[in-house]
Amino acid sequence: FPPEKIRNISIIAHIDHGKSTLADRLLEMTGTITKGPGGNHQVLDKLNVERERGITVKAQTVSMLHTHKGEEYLINLIDTPGHVDFSYEVSRSLGACEGCLLLVDASHLSTTEGLQAQSLAVFRAASAQGLAIIPCLNKIDLPHASPEAISQQIEETLRIPPSQHLYISAKSGIGVDKVLGAVIENLPPPATTGAGWKDRVSRLSAGGALREGAVERWEKEEDDILRALIVDTYYDRFRGVVSLIRIFTGSIKKGDKITPMASGKRYEVLDVGVFHPEETPTDSLLAGQVGYVVCNMKNFEEANVGDTLTHATTTDIEPLPGFKPMQSMVFAGVFPLDAQDFQKLEEAIGRLTLNDRSVVYKDGTEEIISNPSLFPESHDKTMRIDHVEEPIGEEQVSTRCLACLLTLCPILPVHATIMVPQDFIGEMMELCNEHRGIELEYTFVEATDRAVLRYQLPLSEIATEFFSSLKSRSKGYASFDYEDAGYAASDLVKVHTQYLSQESSR
Ligand code: GDP
Ligand code: MG
Repeated sequence: FPPEKIRNISIIAHIDHGKSTLADRLLEMTGTITKGPGGNHQVLDKLNVERERGITVKAQTVSMLHTHKGEEYLINLIDTPGHVDFSYEVSRSLGACEGCLLLVDASHLSTTEGLQAQSLAVFRAASAQGLAIIPCLNKIDLPHASPEAISQQIEETLRIPPSQHLYISAKSGIGVDKVLGAVIENLPPPATTGAGWKDRVSRLSAGGALREGAVERWEKEEDDILRALIVDTYYDRFRGVVSLIRIFTGSIKKGDKITPMASGKRYEVLDVGVFHPEETPTDSLLAGQVGYVVCNMKNFEEANVGDTLTHATTTDIEPLPGFKPMQSMVFAGVFPLDAQDFQKLEEAIGRLTLNDRSVVYKDGTEEIISNPSLFPESHDKTMRIDHVEEPIGEEQVSTRCLACLLTLCPILPVHATIMVPQDFIGEMMELCNEHRGIELEYTFVEATDRAVLRYQLPLSEIATEFFSSLKSRSKGYASFDYEDAGYAASDLVKVHTQYLSQESSR
């Protein structure tokens, strides 16, 4: 398929607005799956459940073939997680697309009809990447559907004219044929040459790091060099790491020698293909396409999401900007009941992280000293201390975590940034104060109704229900980010009182 015959899309929606149902209809109408007696397949969800269970692990991406006005097109549907807390994964999936369908429940019976905070959040993520967006007003088969009112809401809030809105019923199939037509006529094909691909990839990191001079360096390089973005990875117990990739330029075929730019290691491509809906080998993937590649990688560390794959013979090109590093939002300290089981626990967590990249863990060789008497003796030869760190920040943070009363709980202070409509400032300040926050800064974003609050908070405080309180008390409108204020390496030694008195008597 030449690029102009390809469309890479996502469906973005608030939960329950009908994303899975619409995906099923699209797959049926393109003959990718056959209509079963039950009618409702939820194909993407099935892949998702399998993935959670680690049975057969698949990325949630499907390639469909569709004939429009006598021409055949390849439409790649890349699924995004349906939960607002996974905004990082959403912007990552959107990184493989040029456009998306914004699905909005237009029924009047539902308590969550119309645009929701989650629809807005994904809409913002898609706009930040410069994606074209087609609003689809769903559930018009219901007697109390009011698509006109929702259409007006979309026009006012998102500034997309009603002439571009589609009225559909994902359940009954009404209007779904128009969706496929609109995808082909109104969403752009992938740009693989000239300024087009550079503009697209420049927006990938959405607020992240596009290296200085990157665009100028791309100008000097050939367009047809292989530049493939690793969008996601999953683990196949027989073939090792499988990478879901989006080819921006160049092409990749079986037998090619490739290298992920971050590690510089070389691999031979053992298999490439598309999801139709299962993994289907194709021998090669061309510029603009989305598919998978297998190249004998054993560990996730070898295939970093956001890294650029290129040919091993290509040296010294500017990599794609990739994505911002992921940030943990939910924390847990895990201990075995019996200390003997520690190794089993470590193995189990290792297996979990192999199948689920959103889980990050640290092994406990770090110790937090809650009392100076517990500080190791300098003559203690049973342990080798690499270095000692001391918390920095404006307040001496208590060594015992107030939230869980465990001394081992991380107490390190973080610098939090909360962006919120001005109506919620008071509520957010109260929340931070309840969590032992110290206000650092308070600014307004020009020409918007948004304020930015900066607070120092103990990590242990945000590791509890802070994030969900933030979401509920701001009605979903607050966005939250943080960085370690941190511990800093410090030159500390244990000083005994008897030494002190000897010193002073001298
Ligand atoms: P998702 O969470 O966005 O994936 O939503 P689902 O596809 O699971 O749909 C949520 C619920 O809405 C299910 O009970 C669907 O059957 C129902 N639904 C989805 N689309 C329509 C529609 O067009 N009309 C009606 N009446 N119900 C729908
Ligand atoms: Mg769903």
